[in-house]
Amino acid sequence: MELSFDTLHTPLIQLPFVGATRSALFEILDIFTVEDLFFTKPRRYEDRRSHATDVSNKPWEEGQWLAVPVHFKNVKVRRLRGGRSIIEVLAKTSIGMATSLQLRWFNVPYLAKQWQGQSVDLYVFGKLKQARNRWVLDMPEWEPIYHDAEKQVHMERIVPIYALTHGLSQRVYRSIIFRALKQLDSQCQEWLPMAREGKSWHENLWQLHFPENFVQAEKGRKRLAFDEFYVWQSLLALRRHKNKVALGKAIVPSSQLIPKFLSELPFTPTAAQQRVFAEISADLNREHPMNRLLQGDVGSGKTLVAILAILQAVEARFTAAFMAPTDILANQHFLTLRRLLKGMGLTIGLMTGNKKTQSGDFFKPQIWVGTHALFQEKVRLENLGLIVIDEQHKFGVEQRARLRAKGESPHVLVMTATPIPRTLGLTVYGDLDVSVIDELPKGRGKMITALRSEEALKKIWDFARAQCEQGRQVYIVYPAIEEGDEKILKTVKKQVETLQKQLAPYPVVALHGKLKPQEKELLMEEFREGEISVLVATTVIEVGVDVPNASVMIIENAERFGLAQLHQLRGRIGRGSHTSYCILVSQAKNTESWERLKILEKTQDGFKIAEADLELRGVGDVLGKRQSGVAPFRLGNLVTDWDLIRKAQAFARETVEQDPHLSNPENKELKRRIKNLLQGQRRKWVDQA
Ligand code: ADP
Ligand code: MG
Repeated sequence: MELSFDTLHTPLIQLPFVGATRSALFEILDIFTVEDLFFTKPRRYEDRRSHATDVSNKPWEEGQWLAVPVHFKNVKVRRLRGGRSIIEVLAKTSIGMATSLQLRWFNVPYLAKQWQGQSVDLYVFGKLKQARNRWVLDMPEWEPIYHDAEKQVHMERIVPIYALTHGLSQRVYRSIIFRALKQLDSQCQEWLPMAREGKSWHENLWQLHFPENFVQAEKGRKRLAFDEFYVWQSLLALRRHKNKVALGKAIVPSSQLIPKFLSELPFTPTAAQQRVFAEISADLNREHPMNRLLQGDVGSGKTLVAILAILQAVEARFTAAFMAPTDILANQHFLTLRRLLKGMGLTIGLMTGNKKTQSGDFFKPQIWVGTHALFQEKVRLENLGLIVIDEQHKFGVEQRARLRAKGESPHVLVMTATPIPRTLGLTVYGDLDVSVIDELPKGRGKMITALRSEEALKKIWDFARAQCEQGRQVYIVYPAIEEGDEKILKTVKKQVETLQKQLAPYPVVALHGKLKPQEKELLMEEFREGEISVLVATTVIEVGVDVPNASVMIIENAERFGLAQLHQLRGRIGRGSHTSYCILVSQAKNTESWERLKILEKTQDGFKIAEADLELRGVGDVLGKRQSGVAPFRLGNLVTDWDLIRKAQAFARETVEQDPHLSNPENKELKRRIKNLLQGQRRKWVDQA
């Protein structure tokens, strides 16, 4: 059977040399088809070329990895008690300083049968050791010498080492992929629609699995990773295109509200805020629905931009919806809007899980603020022109699609601080247009970040009290609410009493996710009004909370948080004109996590922090469970492949622009792969929008 593009989806079990037992083992590894097999990257490689491991004029050393051709005639088997056995062979080597080498295999008597009475030539590979004045290889890897590179699979080459499962050996795995690759039609030409220099697709697969050198292996990986990125980006480009041509409603600016609003605003928008609003405003003015991501570091003033967009919608007599991931944040936005839009005669509604500001079906505000509650089936948003989603990274990709379905092709603006690095940004938000606020409002006080151990706590509390004396407010954050299994972790409930004594007479109050929504709201209100000086909290305050007078953020057990999350928490302060202090307290003993936290002392750049986080913690942790599935890449590396991803996005957008339905014959393979991506094993990874 010859394999080609058309048969790549062949289930492994149909390959005659695989069989049912083995294909079941492969399934455990998430490998179902020939394509899966080809696109699963070796975990690492082993250089088993004799000339690479044995430098002829250098003496052998204990512990050295050695690959050599050997010759032997006499095989001895020693039987031990309990059915155990040792095969011992004294072999001649043709290279190296020593001319004889002892080989030993334990408990594999069948090997001896195979070799008994024969003159045997093998390649062996193992770790050298010395015993009784002899050089020995115990349990070496081996393969007959074939004098034919077409047959030599396991030896005398750089061999791939794969992730295994119990019952499946490297040797079997390697043989299977070798044979499958041999059967792949070498005429299988480049499938990408654009001409690309370099090797063919077929050769790249060989390079990935059986490279001639390590540079080649990485080249092969990159080229095939590009395919993966290209397929994914094409999917996003198709969505983007679909949205671009979809008919929506133009929201024409009319200067009825915005000039008045700006003249009453206590500050002037930054240049960056003005620029991104101009981009958004132009989008809204088109007859096709906007799909734009507004990125801007914590504290850069995204809310103001959202309000301007909302006003443009309202001016044109559309309803606008402003959605936030938590009750606290929705509530805060509601209050902000009410404050800033006072006297403009607009109706604003709030809808969170537990409440509506005004009930009755007759209440039809021009602006709805809320949480997910806004988008329940039963809620009808009439004449919806614009949806703004704050802190988008807290929502799933599918949710974004579901929202879009609400109303008739409304314009969508999603906003996020930058806890996601640019590679992920392109991957997760590749279907969106992007605007970036790259400037913080002026007049902000200095921000000082310090990493301290627990010994410093006494001093830290004194410092916090001194700040309260000056009229500032303080957040103190702990990773958990109640004492769980991990006794060592300080907890909000346990700490709040101690802190009340430490920081007396300043009022200290606990805020955490287990309080009733109304209680949370009341506490936030009192904190905002300055009636509470110190808020002891869990990460419920992580996103969005905006109280400019709060200038101290103390985070205990800081090693428990991701860097991006700590950066978000730190973003709660530094919003006013006072100098702000972020104090990270860690009891981490190992230098590694100490060094990790030090990154925050050094930089306030959200992008840099997010990238460090991605490198240190991996994709799943950075994106969170909801979005981790968004990366169905086997060969692509989201940490290092920025260039590839960018190129893939450009190519994909070009392809889709030229052939929006991928009906061109040259895009047939791309179409098949996209379909696979959507329907295949990894269905769970992709939203169905
Ligand atoms: P984020 O981008 O993190 O959501 P916010 O929208 O909460 O930031 O804004 C942070 C703070 O900066 C708020 O208190 C807001 O009123 C203030 N702010 C926003 N824009 C400006 C500006 N142009 N000049 C001064 N302060 C601003
Ligand atoms: Mg915000």
